[in-house]
Amino acid sequence: RNLELEQQLQAHEWTAKLYHFLLKNTEYGKSAMDYLKSRGFSEKAIDTFQIGYAPSRWDTLVQFLEKRSFNLDVMEKGGLLSSKQDGSGYVDRFRDRVMFPLHNRSGKVIAFAGRVLGEGQPKYLNSSESKLFSKSRTLYNLHMAKGEIRKSRQFVLFEGYGDVISAWEAGVHNGVATMGTALTESHAAMMRGLADEVIVCYDGDQAGQAAALKSIPILEDAGFQVRIAMLSEGLDPDDFIRKYGAERFHRQILDGAVSSVKFKLIYLRKNHILLEEDGKVAYIKDALEVIAPLSSPTEREIYLKELSAELQVSFESLKQECNEKRQSMQ
Ligand code: ATP
Ligand code: MN
Ligand code: MN
Ligand code: MN
Repeated sequence: RNLELEQQLQAHEWTAKLYHFLLKNTEYGKSAMDYLKSRGFSEKAIDTFQIGYAPSRWDTLVQFLEKRSFNLDVMEKGGLLSSKQDGSGYVDRFRDRVMFPLHNRSGKVIAFAGRVLGEGQPKYLNSSESKLFSKSRTLYNLHMAKGEIRKSRQFVLFEGYGDVISAWEAGVHNGVATMGTALTESHAAMMRGLADEVIVCYDGDQAGQAAALKSIPILEDAGFQVRIAMLSEGLDPDDFIRKYGAERFHRQILDGAVSSVKFKLIYLRKNHILLEEDGKVAYIKDALEVIAPLSSPTEREIYLKELSAELQVSFESLKQECNEKRQSMQ
């Protein structure tokens, strides 16, 4: 059993090297290289993140692993190969895709994510879950970011590979990503010893904002100070950095990250038409659900004052309603 894991780790390490070599040094990799360049990935990022290319043949990896005497059953269990439909052997799981190796915390390659060049479904194909790889316990780039995270006691949480890589090129070296899956309690627990604060920097689209909202209680229950960085125009961090540059990403997006309470209020406000009386009333009701449970009186006062100014409703009446709400909560 242990021996199988060792073999799988070894195979993953060599496979990452193979894919990276094919991308950089062969004709096979040219279309993938063009794709990466067109997206703005630098040579340095391609090397640092060991990005690669899996050719379109069905047996590139099968042959490579066979030549090195790996047991293919074990390789299939480890997520690198797929069984043929008729059960007569194995084929490469990843074909004609840009390959992102995924590492465990100590820097060993444990899985891959393969992206189609351009449009196509699925956009990303991951290694299957295995003894080696569990998506809900893996954070992309943690192995490289952990030093900086420990030093700053802070990390930035992204959705995707491109976001981590672009942010890294923009000088953000404490970024990790959940890889599209929802943030789990295991993810939060993994980070707790390393940091005290997290900036959630998810995509600016509806899905990203909804996911950011869901991540807040998980992170706060694990003991983190949480701030949310908000992106406009439905951009993701990668898009934003390519469009507006690193300096604006730092100043506007990261430095402008808001408290979790503020984010919830902004999020809820979008559901209401504040020009109409009943819209205002409904928003106040939602907002008090967020503000009333806050244990700090000054914190409640700050948000109630903002609400008062924003909606032109007296602070006194908001405070009274908030206190009534608190009493009903006990
Ligand atoms: P790109 O910039 O390459 O188009 P993205 O990272 O912006 O990709 P999103 O659609 O925002 O992609 O998804 C965020 C993350 O979710 C991806 O980086 C990937 O980790 C994961 N993901 C997205 N689609 C899939 C999929 N079909 N299967 C598995 N994981 C996926
Ligand atoms: Mn997204
Ligand atoms: Mn995205
Ligand atoms: Mn993107």
